[in-house]
Amino acid sequence: MKFEGKTALVTGGSRGIGRAICLELAEGGANVVLCYAGNEAAAQETVQAVEALGAKALAVHCDVSDAAGVDGLVKAAVETFGRIDILVNNAGITRDNLLMRMSEADFDQVVAANLKGAFLCMKAVSKLMLKQRYGRIVNLSSVVALRGNAGQVNYAASKAGIIGMTKSLAKELASRGVTVNAVAPGFIETDMTAALPEAARTAAQGSIPMNRLGGPEDVAKAAAFLAGDGAAYITGQVLAVDGGMSM
Ligand code: NAP
Repeated sequence: MKFEGKTALVTGGSRGIGRAICLELAEGGANVVLCYAGNEAAAQETVQAVEALGAKALAVHCDVSDAAGVDGLVKAAVETFGRIDILVNNAGITRDNLLMRMSEADFDQVVAANLKGAFLCMKAVSKLMLKQRYGRIVNLSSVVALRGNAGQVNYAASKAGIIGMTKSLAKELASRGVTVNAVAPGFIETDMTAALPEAARTAAQGSIPMNRLGGPEDVAKAAAFLAGDGAAYITGQVLAVDGGMSM
């Protein structure tokens, strides 16, 4: 039970990759606090799935782009479990369009949820981790941060920003026992990618050397590795989980 006695905060834990990360950490014995944007039924289902593994869970409604909401989320986690050892910044959205057709609102919403949300959570949680002199922060970037993608100027900007923030905070916290790393998933089968046309899915699969799309659990295993004590000497890194897509 490598996460026994530890508490993890996973943003966007109600569905997809975030849900898989909650379960992976719970399987290792962690208490899990997850937040969600609006899908309470899915969040409660994740809570039940975590509890079925014998771990404790708390779901909190919180828009990660709202500073007061994030402060409330962190307060609820600490009141319930006393500490936060692991933060996984997973919450994210897409609003895809070609630049010429992309509205300013679509740019702002994606950057607010994906980039500012991670900033607010890291700011709130790193204070606790500094006092504890222990912490693991794992941020969800994307293969599109490394390669770009037509129709995703907003999303790619937010995910490339995640890499810059990860490396910068890693330097700030390295001497205090807190590591900050990122995972960069490729094409993972979740609600986020289910909306894409079949032609886009087939094209994506063709560009993956392993010739298959990834599953949420592929990313969860990598995130759990970076959140564990086995990754104690790894910080500021970006781990691609993409079947070789970004090589
Ligand atoms: P998903 O299935 O669409 O789930 C998104 C999750 O984020 C949901 O739990 C959602 O909550 C939550 N969320 C969205 N906006 C939020 C906000 N403002 N505040 C709090 N929670 C919010 O997405 P996914 O595919 O699992 O993606 C998870 C992460 O991996 C994202 O950061 C995504 O960019 C990244 N990623 C995904 C892929 C992929 O191929 N799927 C590839 C690379 C990177 P509700 O359930 O309440 O809506």
